[in-house]
Amino acid sequence: MQTKMLIGGELVAGDGAATPVLDPATGKEVASVNEASPAQIEAACAAAGEAFESFGQTTPAERSAMLLAIADAIEAHNDELAELESLDCGKPFAAARDDEMPLTIDTFRFMAGAARTQGGSAAGEYVEGHTSMIRKDPIGPVASIAPWNYPLMMASWKLAAPLAAGCPVVLKPSEMTPLATLRLAEILNGILPAGVLNVIHGDGAGVGNSLINNPGVEGISITGSPATGMAAMKAASQQIRHVHLELGGKAPVIVFGDADIDAVVETIHGGAYFNAGQDCAQPCRIMVEDSVYDRVVAETAAAVSKIKTGTQHDPDTEMGPLISAAHRDRVAGFVDRARVTAEIACGGSAPDGDGFFYAPTVVANVDNDAEIACDEVFGPVVTISRFSDADEALRIANASPYGLASSVWTSDVGRAMKMCARLRYGFTWVNTHGMASPEMPWAAMKGSGTGCDMSVYALDAYTSVRHVMIAH
Ligand code: NAD
Repeated sequence: MQTKMLIGGELVAGDGAATPVLDPATGKEVASVNEASPAQIEAACAAAGEAFESFGQTTPAERSAMLLAIADAIEAHNDELAELESLDCGKPFAAARDDEMPLTIDTFRFMAGAARTQGGSAAGEYVEGHTSMIRKDPIGPVASIAPWNYPLMMASWKLAAPLAAGCPVVLKPSEMTPLATLRLAEILNGILPAGVLNVIHGDGAGVGNSLINNPGVEGISITGSPATGMAAMKAASQQIRHVHLELGGKAPVIVFGDADIDAVVETIHGGAYFNAGQDCAQPCRIMVEDSVYDRVVAETAAAVSKIKTGTQHDPDTEMGPLISAAHRDRVAGFVDRARVTAEIACGGSAPDGDGFFYAPTVVANVDNDAEIACDEVFGPVVTISRFSDADEALRIANASPYGLASSVWTSDVGRAMKMCARLRYGFTWVNTHGMASPEMPWAAMKGSGTGCDMSVYALDAYTSVRHVMIAH
């Protein structure tokens, strides 16, 4: 198994402590990866800084060709990378291969095109005798930090946009799930000039913190929890750096009485338990108008109680384990505190046996201000609560500190449009939930972050707008 890091075009073993990588489906160690030492973190940032001198000057067409070559290389190793991802996260192999790899690859292909769309917006005489032009130039080396829930797909979001913009990257995957990203580093070495892509391994508080505080880094890009986003803002405030944050979410699913309830239930069944619910856009906070509340609870619980949990290659497996024992305990804690006042409609326990499994769970009769309705659980748990009218639903949803995904379910187009206009979330789906496309932004508002991944707007985080003025 490839456990070396990539620094300045060389594959090197970490000089720091060995960290175990576990298979969450069994709890057993599958690899041991050494962390980057302080000198190796410094070397990776220095390599990115050196590479910027020439990579920042490449043409969009040259960068586009590299991004297309990256996509082709990933595609050529599709099943091998999906296998590593599935082992590392415990997720069903078919989900890693068929649901995640296509978007991972397409992200690079989309950004290959997006690289060629960037241009200044003005050239003209705004002061007599002078011509002004606007340039959009790469900001410099970027520290990119990825989470454990979709390690490779999140790495693609953290890599493709800065590379398209002309910024070298030092990428740190989660210490819990480094395997597919380390293999990716090996596969991509040689496609990009040395130092343009560096991948280091290590924990957040030590290695991650040193990386985002390195003086050579000009931009910090994080996908992770709000706490890590705050650490990034703090680091950036010490040196005045660009910060791009995609953080946690708590997606409200607002179901009106005239909605297609079969579609609502099917979407919760398919979407809320995908990746064992460890998804920032998970349709987890189901808010239902009084008239259809009992039906939604009964039909959701009936569908969810049939979801089969299991290991990666069992053909019956619909849902895998949680990422770690500690995370399973955290999820169980939310449910155990909620059961005092709410109703566990199905699930609500961890099965006996190996691995970090937790039963697909529906918690009904949840107060709109209950902890489990408001905080990000990040597990196979949905809550169902009531509302009486559109204004109340908006008030409840917009009171959340999070502002990532949301959805509205109704057959009244006018009502859907009014809700979309007033919901304070980076994205709102109507009569669906969870569909993503590289052309469209995965956008964050409020406590869920700043800016977006995917779409041409993602390039804004990695480019500076500049003014050049020429005296005639
Ligand atoms: P996390 O914040 O614990 O870890 C994310 C990454 O940050 C890891 O690589 C970790 O090592 C690193 N990190 C932690 N502390 C750090 C520090 N002080 N300095 C630098 N790096 C540090 O998050 P997680 O548990 O891996 O992922 C789950 C979270 O990610 C959830 O909140 C989820 O909603 C969020 N997420 C958001 C999106 C999105 O697009 N908005 C996508 C996926 C996951």
